[in-house]
Amino acid sequence: MNRGVRPADYPPPTSDEEYLAQPTDPPDERIEVGVLIVGAGPAGLACAIRLGQLHEEHPDVAERLGDVPVAVLEKGKQPGSHLLSGAVVNPRALRRLFQGRKRVDEMPFYGPVESEAVYFLTKRGALRIPAPPTMKNHGNYVASLSRLGRWLAEQAEEGGATILPETAAEKLLVSDGRVRGVRTGDKGRGRNGEDLPNLEPGSDVLARVTVLAEGTAGHLTGVAIGRFGLAQSPQVWALGVKEVWKVAKPLRRVVHTMGWPLRSGAKYREFGGSFIYPMGEDMVTLGMVVGLDHRDAELSVHDLLQQLKTHRVVRRILEGGERIGWGAKTIPEGGFLALPRRLHAPGLLIAGDGAGLVNVPALKGIHYAIESGRLAAEAAFETLRPGRTPWTPGALAAYDDALRESFVWKDLRAVRNMRPAFAHGFWLGGALAGAMTATRGAFPRKDSRLERDVEHELLRTGRARGYPVPDGKLTFDKLSSVYLSGNRTRDDAPNHLRVQRRVPRELAEAWTWMCPAQVYDVGTEEDGEVTVDVTPSNCVQCGAITAKGGRLTPAEGGSGPEYTLT
Ligand SMILES: Cc1cc2nc3c(=O)[nH]c(=O)nc-3n(C[C@H](O)[C@H](O)[C@H](O)COP(=O)(O)OP(=O)(O)OC[C@H]3O[C@@H](n4cnc5c(N)ncnc54)[C@H](O)[C@@H]3O)c2cc1C
Ligand code: SF4
Repeated sequence: MNRGVRPADYPPPTSDEEYLAQPTDPPDERIEVGVLIVGAGPAGLACAIRLGQLHEEHPDVAERLGDVPVAVLEKGKQPGSHLLSGAVVNPRALRRLFQGRKRVDEMPFYGPVESEAVYFLTKRGALRIPAPPTMKNHGNYVASLSRLGRWLAEQAEEGGATILPETAAEKLLVSDGRVRGVRTGDKGRGRNGEDLPNLEPGSDVLARVTVLAEGTAGHLTGVAIGRFGLAQSPQVWALGVKEVWKVAKPLRRVVHTMGWPLRSGAKYREFGGSFIYPMGEDMVTLGMVVGLDHRDAELSVHDLLQQLKTHRVVRRILEGGERIGWGAKTIPEGGFLALPRRLHAPGLLIAGDGAGLVNVPALKGIHYAIESGRLAAEAAFETLRPGRTPWTPGALAAYDDALRESFVWKDLRAVRNMRPAFAHGFWLGGALAGAMTATRGAFPRKDSRLERDVEHELLRTGRARGYPVPDGKLTFDKLSSVYLSGNRTRDDAPNHLRVQRRVPRELAEAWTWMCPAQVYDVGTEEDGEVTVDVTPSNCVQCGAITAKGGRLTPAEGGSGPEYTLT
């Protein structure tokens, strides 16, 4: 029997080596900072906030670090521009971070979760089922992560951090076996890399400790994991596509759905579901999350979300409303089984989604990101005291020790085999997950093995015929959605996406359907293969292509979406 096409057989034409370098700027042109944090998400900003608190308590340590004790690099136009989540937030880690300095009612939440409902959907029906323990949200708060990120950035700046937006960390600087910092990407290059009149070359930013808090599919995180031999099991991802709606009547509860439009058969590997959260009195956010180990070449999470909205349960929530926001992002789903063997190396710490700290059955990662950022700050701070050096091997190991002792580890360990259980299909997977919950993770005795998303053979089932034709009111196409994301990337920017450009038709179609931003198109056919046409300026940097056979590298700083409500 002929083997089907696997994305793994068409790896991206690039390697980690391209993104590893030694410092090259002359010493007087280098930017020197104390602690360098890459990524202004919840992990990176929590790290900056905690360092600010520690420096306030120990000004002598801050003084040793020079003019810029803490710097945060963010590739988005401003903090929050590239943040997208559900989001129902467990406030536990925020409380631990602020220790009474800020109360939860001072944080930018839309309100506490007052009631919740879980539905199993069929095409026309809906069965309300009891919420599985992992999906109970009492005591949690609804937020827009983009908005929460802006607020956290203000807190970090008040604590003395310097935030540099529109700045992508492109290369990891390593010399003598130690991370020295990063090189930022050039700005103002043309499509083919040529200098434009406004060229601003990147710089070496050197630090005593570099904290990678890049989030999902982290570019330098992948490079660091490879360089320091930290991987033990492959990571797997899901893609989430979401919308924000202004609605005519308030939604009073948090809603999750399973089932339709996903299929339950094991051969399709369609694991996921939807979330619908109230954002105050007049807004609602809804999204669809689907594992990227799915096999159907025509599976498009964006179009599944459009299909979901035609179901009466969802349609009646949106009736009389208007779509005001859209965006997409991946979620690392390997959880505990995919954690790197260590989250530190000489001069380096890894926090948040970059490390894979996500509880998939609960769809939660924000409080783990915040807690890991806080613990990274404490470990870094200890090595900055007089007489200590952060780059001697093991100097930063206190971070791993603290994380292992934390609720993060305990939570992720208990649910570690749940995601892989769904490779057996929805029903058997659900039953196995139930047994895992009942035994708090003691069952099964042998851990599952993760397979990379690219390993699964593609199949075709005519799925796309079921997607609704966009009507511009309830259902929308990808291009108008990209526009709504605020993406204003210039058309002549260099291509930041690495994919093979001649592949079997099935793979080109799979990328075309998968990408929520219409970046890929199937080109001309020759000798049984097609060309892949790429429009990089549409890209919203969701990371899905990294999971499914290509590689997302940092685009020019300041480009990409400009989310505000996601
Ligand atoms: C659809 C969806 C729904 C979710 N729902 C929930 C939920 O309801 N509750 C919950 O708790 N969690 C939820 N999560 C997970 C949660 O959003 C993440 O776990 C969390 O955002 C991780 O935080 P982080 O700081 O590690 O990464 P991120 O939030 O991704 O932030 C990383 C930041 O780093 C920047 N960056 C990355 N690389 C570079 C670079 N090289 N140079 C400069 N800047 C860089 C990015 O632009 C970004 O601003 C959801 C995720 C998705 C996608
Ligand atoms: S091209 Fe950009 S938007 Fe499309 S899948 Fe890849 S990372 Fe996501």
